[in-house]
Amino acid sequence: MSEKTIFQKIIDREIPAPLVYEDDLVAAFHDIAPQAPIHVLIVPKKLIPRVGEATLEDQATLGALLLAAGKIAEKLGVKDRSTEGFRLVINHGKNAGETVPHLHVHLLAGRPLDWPPG
Ligand code: 5GP
Repeated sequence: MSEKTIFQKIIDREIPAPLVYEDDLVAAFHDIAPQAPIHVLIVPKKLIPRVGEATLEDQATLGALLLAAGKIAEKLGVKDRSTEGFRLVINHGKNAGETVPHLHVHLLAGRPLDWPPG
């Protein structure tokens, strides 16, 4: 069996990291190298290496990631669309800058975010 990803170790509580959110399908914690005042990683408990490798079987998990994002944004006070707001990012592969092969949604907030991204 291949070695657990760093995110799997956090989910399995082998590496301590306070969870911002958790339900049956996903867990979320702060990024170790935040790119904005709020930078949370939302991760499926099931290992899906990257979004393009998800299957129909993963449909509920994919939905759970986005539903968690809204709940986390509300919890952290950045859901209000007129005063705050947030961005979700999923990196797939080399050109997108993926570094951890365990699907994760970045939730970035707390400052104006440029568009287009770099
Ligand atoms: P990617 O580049 O794969 O989309 O994003 C991986 C993210 O995981 C990066 O933003 C990186 O800072 C974060 N990261 C890498 N190792 C750890 C870790 O051990 N703990 C936490 N909380 N975040 C990590």
